[in-house]
Amino acid sequence: MQYDVIIIGAGLGGLTAGAKLAKEGKSVLLLEQHDRPGGCATTFKRKDFTMEVGLHEMDGLHPGDIKNRVFADLGISDRVEFLQVPEFYRFINDRYDLVVPHDPEEAKAILKSSFPDQEKGIDDYFYHVLNAKRVMVAHRNEPDKSVGAFLDEIISNEDLKLVLLGNLGYFHDDPYTLSWIYYLTAQGSYYGGRANFIKGGSQQLSNALSNIITENGGTVKLNHLATSIDYKGGKPVGVTCQKTRDKEKEKLSDSATHIIANAAVPNLAETLLSKQDGKKLADTITRNKIGASLLTVYYGFKKSLKEVGNRHYSTFIYDGTVGSQKDILANNHSDFSTRSFTFVDYSQVDADLAPGGKSVGAVCAVDYPEDWENLERDEYNRMKADVADIITSRCEKIIPGFRDAVEYVEVATSLSVKRFTRNPEGAVYGFAQNPGKSTEYLSALPENIHIASAWGKFGGGFSGSILSGYMTAMDLLRKF
Ligand SMILES: Cc1cc2nc3c(=O)[nH]c(=O)nc-3n(C[C@H](O)[C@H](O)[C@H](O)COP(=O)(O)OP(=O)(O)OC[C@H]3O[C@@H](n4cnc5c(N)ncnc54)[C@H](O)[C@@H]3O)c2cc1C
Repeated sequence: MQYDVIIIGAGLGGLTAGAKLAKEGKSVLLLEQHDRPGGCATTFKRKDFTMEVGLHEMDGLHPGDIKNRVFADLGISDRVEFLQVPEFYRFINDRYDLVVPHDPEEAKAILKSSFPDQEKGIDDYFYHVLNAKRVMVAHRNEPDKSVGAFLDEIISNEDLKLVLLGNLGYFHDDPYTLSWIYYLTAQGSYYGGRANFIKGGSQQLSNALSNIITENGGTVKLNHLATSIDYKGGKPVGVTCQKTRDKEKEKLSDSATHIIANAAVPNLAETLLSKQDGKKLADTITRNKIGASLLTVYYGFKKSLKEVGNRHYSTFIYDGTVGSQKDILANNHSDFSTRSFTFVDYSQVDADLAPGGKSVGAVCAVDYPEDWENLERDEYNRMKADVADIITSRCEKIIPGFRDAVEYVEVATSLSVKRFTRNPEGAVYGFAQNPGKSTEYLSALPENIHIASAWGKFGGGFSGSILSGYMTAMDLLRKF
């Protein structure tokens, strides 16, 4: 069939682009290799628990956040309930146990009372995160630097830097290779705005976007893997896909004026584009590094963790051996008995993920595929069970009664993320946001191929992917 647009991948970027284009009357075909829409923004069922694959906190939704306009335009606010989480995060290491609120003034007051000799550094920090755009303009002629270097310039206390970097895993694995401008913009949206969960889990948002496509005449084909972009006269004209559930792996081809890749940019270069276009794109991405992946321990609890005594939604635990921000990267590569992690207790926001009195939680840590690759199946499963046990013991120390409350536990590694999303190295945020990251690849594509994903110009996370999808759709609507 002939469509205005074919979208490869039903992650948030692809879904948002598809929803906007379909709503504006464009004919849309969306191909998704998995059995449900959402990519990282999905849920899965285990026993009577609904496990949230990824979402801990979506930043923003404050007045002035562009996502409000996107959601209002698409009618998302009528279909999805956003739940504001009670505080930004609790930070724990051997030396500090602090709750960092979202409100910048409250956060400053708490930090200043714990680090009284760092008042100026704390004020400087919040000035920068709350005025990221102004900072960007003021420093536009200077080379980008790392957030690690920025913190070293304004703060002398290493523990304070660690507290401020509690949620670093939301962006990257190392403060010394994370662009300060990217960090300030993203972190500013958590402080200036708020953080949110989605009632029933992120699948609700993905389903809502998918429904908008189909209600407006578009087609969403699940279990369909795009295998190549088709060419005619040297120009992309369509997409060939195969049914993933079908034994014969039947191949189907459709044509389109424009093609949007929600699938990872390196995959676009390696497998989807023609050899010539693929090489051109590959040459421009060689200087970009692939971003971090995450390991998750999914927990189903027989009771609400509130009942067990937990009071916090999101708790970041840094091991005592992390004495300064220089130790963070090595710690992320360390054994799971010392690797820093975050625990999310969804019962704190009445997330509707478990029935009567039960609850759901998740632990996340930065993860690397090389730690898991080349293991035999038994060894891989044994290692996952060991990690679950180690993490459960570490949680028990912080929340006594945690272990007894566990009814179900399951581990997903960076390899699981890779398998379910096809993102190379199980990357969850697209390319690493290194200082001076090249965006040359964005102009190395054939003119009717577009990107809508964490690999796009806004970076990863829910916000980056949603904005990438919406802006790509707006660009296309102008072209149409
Ligand atoms: C454990 C975890 C925790 C996270 N926590 C947060 C958080 O708290 N806050 C936050 O903002 N972000 C978080 N993220 C990151 C966020 O979820 C992602 O950055 C974002 O959802 C990525 O969206 P995307 O549009 O790039 O698509 P992806 O989610 O990467 O999905 C890509 C989709 O394309 C499909 N696909 C790929 N290739 C093909 C093909 N050839 N044919 C057909 N389909 C294809 C895949 O199956 C997949 O569905 C987390 C992610 C994970 C995994």
